[in-house]
Amino acid sequence: MKTWMIGLLLWILPSAAFAAPLKVVATLPSLAALAAEVGGPLVQVEALSSPRQDPHYVDARPSLILQLNRADMLVQNGLELEVGWLPPLLLQARNPKISQGAPGFFDASQFVHRLQVPAGAVSRRQGDIHPGGNPHFLFDPRAAASIAEALGQRLAEVDAAHAETYRNNAAVLVKRLRALAAEEAAKFAALPAAKRRLCVYHESLVYVLDWLGLQEVATVEPRPGIPPDPQHVAAVLQTMRGGGVHVLAQEEFYPQNTSKTLAELAKARLVVLQGGTRFSEGQHYADHARALADTLFAAFSQAAP
Ligand SMILES: [Zn+2]
Repeated sequence: MKTWMIGLLLWILPSAAFAAPLKVVATLPSLAALAAEVGGPLVQVEALSSPRQDPHYVDARPSLILQLNRADMLVQNGLELEVGWLPPLLLQARNPKISQGAPGFFDASQFVHRLQVPAGAVSRRQGDIHPGGNPHFLFDPRAAASIAEALGQRLAEVDAAHAETYRNNAAVLVKRLRALAAEEAAKFAALPAAKRRLCVYHESLVYVLDWLGLQEVATVEPRPGIPPDPQHVAAVLQTMRGGGVHVLAQEEFYPQNTSKTLAELAKARLVVLQGGTRFSEGQHYADHARALADTLFAAFSQAAP
């Protein structure tokens, strides 16, 4: 571009177009993808973890402190999913803009319909149980739609000059996600009930099961966060064989040895799901959610009757 053209552009475009974008840091890639879509070019979004990492145990590298220190807004999953790594990072980042209670602190779990909220007191002996409810709602586009809507509102608050853009972007995304959720649910509803049963590795697909009308018969982990032992694995195998379960699903970051053995012995398909949106590769949340549903649907349709 010639220099005079740049000069002309600078003169024509309102100065707001050159304002620095709002720096949004999201703990998980799917949250980053939602924030990037709601914010568009007005925001610059970074994810603190990759979809190939278990969100319970993200490596608290010092570079994450720097990202948090510079952020105008933090988007977290909540329900203690990040409790093992985020609080110390936040403490060291010393950024009042994103401290709990500040407008720049956004907790996605506040805006979703929660499942598996424990009725009584929770003890460590039950495994990695989250007292506020199951934190793995990001696979469910219905939850993502609620989060997108709330993100639109919050961004409008934090950056009032562009409030309308944020709300409009959010509305478009919400509509698309709700349509996707309904379309996929209808597809699964056509499968016979006896086929819609599966075994999962970790208790992380409850929102997906609720969305797609699937039934979980067993988990490979005896309790959340506790690795499988031979006795439990034998029980799971018996359940799978007895119940005619032919699908075993897990995220890519969980170990696959036990699942592979189980799948082989039970004549089941092992479905390895993406741990989240491939945000750093430019994937959109909706494409991730659709791929997840399609992968599961293929497994259910092809699995032995
Ligand atoms: Zn979990």
